[in-house]
Amino acid sequence: MSKNVLVLPGDGIGPEIVAEAVKVLEALGTDIQLEHGLVGGAAIDATGGPLPEETMAKARDCDAILLGAVGGPKWEPLDIAIRPEKGLLGLRAGLELFANLRPAILYRQLADASTLKAEVVSDLDLMIVRELTGGIYFGQPRGVRTLDNGERQGYNTLVYSESEIRRIGHVAFQTAQKRDKRVCSVDKANVLECTELWRQVMEEVAKEYPNVQLSHMYVDNAAMQLVRAPKQFDVMVTTNMFGDILSDCAAMLTGSIGMLPSASLDKNGKGMYEPIHGSAPDIAGKGVANPIATVLSVSMMLRYSLNESEAAQRVDDAVVRVLDQGLRTADIYSAGTEKVSTSQMGDAIVAAL
Ligand code: NAD
Repeated sequence: MSKNVLVLPGDGIGPEIVAEAVKVLEALGTDIQLEHGLVGGAAIDATGGPLPEETMAKARDCDAILLGAVGGPKWEPLDIAIRPEKGLLGLRAGLELFANLRPAILYRQLADASTLKAEVVSDLDLMIVRELTGGIYFGQPRGVRTLDNGERQGYNTLVYSESEIRRIGHVAFQTAQKRDKRVCSVDKANVLECTELWRQVMEEVAKEYPNVQLSHMYVDNAAMQLVRAPKQFDVMVTTNMFGDILSDCAAMLTGSIGMLPSASLDKNGKGMYEPIHGSAPDIAGKGVANPIATVLSVSMMLRYSLNESEAAQRVDDAVVRVLDQGLRTADIYSAGTEKVSTSQMGDAIVAAL
């Protein structure tokens, strides 16, 4: 049966990079139907809100979503409740996309782009699995109150139920089974009871995956190890807030925001796939944006939601081939390589398929 993919280009460079990713998807010759929709600022301009009901209905019906990016200076004066970014949050919450997968891959050809020494990061391939819909970002009670002595006090609640930990644990172990079969669970179990439970539940989940090795690490040490020796990790699984911080740190190990894809999955493996970067208004419309993060998001989509791992591998291999050919968009350009535009990069990836 053919699969349906909802394409949401969004704002800024979104439409430019998504066009290239769609070109790659169509060139694969798989039986995938594409639908298009509005989100973010583009949706605000057309309908008055960042996530029209029509888009949400299509999102519920499809097998996977490919998203560019949302936001930009044009919509910044708007009230925070109807800004473009609310469209993204609405999709994540409405579809219960609780598992965020963020790979950090450093291609050998781009080792010089990292601020770390080439031998520390060259061939880095790590996957951070971040819990996305629970933890301290959503826990109640929360707020700022005034105490009896007149002093203001801010408070948030770190809360995880066993079932929330268990389901993200399963995603991490199943992801590791497709990779090097190692999971490192990151917590602060020495200080936070909530993450003591996190650790216990991860141990329980691990029993169902005897071929995957589980280790634990405190988050402070994990931050240190990520910059000291990042290649020691295969899959890292962690809470919403720890994952937020560690995944940005891991992304910057690779030096180039234009290269990194992401996936946000629900319990059935349906997902939303998007580059980790934003709408880059500073370069929008200039044809210089790097489409590779979005092309690699297509590869993740094929692998995790559409059961097309062979096609995913073809996309990954094609990206490596164009890098080997020395083709570079401006963000990853260095002396001795050939600078290409957004669409030239897309065409080269299609040719390399
Ligand atoms: P950004 O990621 O858009 O840009 C940061 C820098 O990286 C810019 O210099 C930009 O030119 C560059 N860059 C980003 N993607 C690139 C690519 N593919 N190729 C080459 N260079 C690239 O972050 P920002 O400037 O902080 O945010 C701009 C807008 O994007 C804001 O409105 C913000 O709210 C929004 N945003 C959206 C998302 C999302 O849609 N998921 C994520 C982050 C930021």
